[in-house]
Amino acid sequence: MKRILIIAFTIYSLTSFSQTDQRIYDIINSVSANRIENDITKLANFGTRHTLSDTISETRGIGAARRWIKKEFEKTSNSCDGCLDVFFQKNLVKEGDNQRITKDVWVVNVVAIQRGTKYPNRYIIMSGDIDSRVSDPNNFTSDSPGANDNASGMAGTLEAARVLSKYKFENSIIYLGLSGEEQGLYGGKGFAQYAIDQNWDIIGVLNNDMIGNIKGVDGVISNRDFRIFSEPVPPTETEKERKSRRFYGGEVDGISRQLARYTYKTTKTYMPEMNPLMIYRLDRFGRGGHHRPFNDIGFTGIRIMEAHENYTQQHQDIRTENSIEYGDKLKHVNFEYAAKLTAVNAITMANLAWAPPAPTQVGIGGIVEASAKLKWDTVEGAKGYKIYWRDTTSPTWDYSRYVGDVSEFTLEGIVIDNFYFGIASVGKDGHESVVVFPNKIMR
Ligand SMILES: [Zn+2]
Repeated sequence: MKRILIIAFTIYSLTSFSQTDQRIYDIINSVSANRIENDITKLANFGTRHTLSDTISETRGIGAARRWIKKEFEKTSNSCDGCLDVFFQKNLVKEGDNQRITKDVWVVNVVAIQRGTKYPNRYIIMSGDIDSRVSDPNNFTSDSPGANDNASGMAGTLEAARVLSKYKFENSIIYLGLSGEEQGLYGGKGFAQYAIDQNWDIIGVLNNDMIGNIKGVDGVISNRDFRIFSEPVPPTETEKERKSRRFYGGEVDGISRQLARYTYKTTKTYMPEMNPLMIYRLDRFGRGGHHRPFNDIGFTGIRIMEAHENYTQQHQDIRTENSIEYGDKLKHVNFEYAAKLTAVNAITMANLAWAPPAPTQVGIGGIVEASAKLKWDTVEGAKGYKIYWRDTTSPTWDYSRYVGDVSEFTLEGIVIDNFYFGIASVGKDGHESVVVFPNKIMR
């Protein structure tokens, strides 16, 4: 009898505290490398998608490309009973705004919004870029297939919309095609401002820029490795926040870094064959991407991309020199790998879109005591909360404890000085918010 009870209890524990959701595996399996191949091929065949290129032709230039992307989102919407709001969002950029804007141009983004059932004004965003370039950034007529940079990110975004539109989420998801990236991150800048004007609550931006190359210029070939770039703290922080970090920590615990850790953890949980690399910087050394304009105004945002880049295939005129084939051609893209990174995005978004909001106020105390204390404001829709902590030198949240539906908790015997701490909300199906680093000190 006793043994039966123990077994019953074990089964109950496993089901009620299950860390995984079968739907997430279904999402991974639904991402199609074939459809991604078709979309990248289609995008590369618009000849050039340069931001300043032709907008009238139906077959060549960025106008034809963005109209096709919009139609693809509309097709997806038609097969989910109109579940996506699809539209163009545009900004006029004037000639001479920088050296890469040689004429007045409308920078046009393509937007598809899947409305959340419970928190329609909270948004998780996946972005890719529409535009491409060759060696001269201002050359808007030469062939510029931009197959990896960044038809891969755009195709991944289209595919994520197809897969996730089959589900209903509590939070809203935006699938976003951005333009003007190569001319100075104009599309992201315009869209970030649009989000502020609409009063949107942005959970975070997953910017995908080059998710299809597995063969690095360094000779390394890997279809498992990928990078998650995140800045340490937002540039919009106050002087007071900066000063308080000297005494309370948080140098590597900004909001974007937490989203990076969330993406890392989700990948490790559901796609353990993949090898996400947490890169502790905004972007590659001295280089840019479309998550930055969101970070610039204080939004959470990260860059997801391949780990092994090939510079002879980026921003290059198509040519052969010393038997090296230059140019961002279709044949260099690995579609299976692009599908894997698309799945990473899709499952991160699904988990977040099914999760309750994170607590906003998190206090921490325990100075000269044997135990760390945490206190937070509860959020509607959370079934409970999880405390995370880690060694101060660890990049990831390595320890956790589910503490139920309470608003404060003491971790007995865990000395505050030796770890960093955070809190996540947990929803009824076990989906978690991002971890919030404490923002108040309790004495
Ligand atoms: Zn580029």
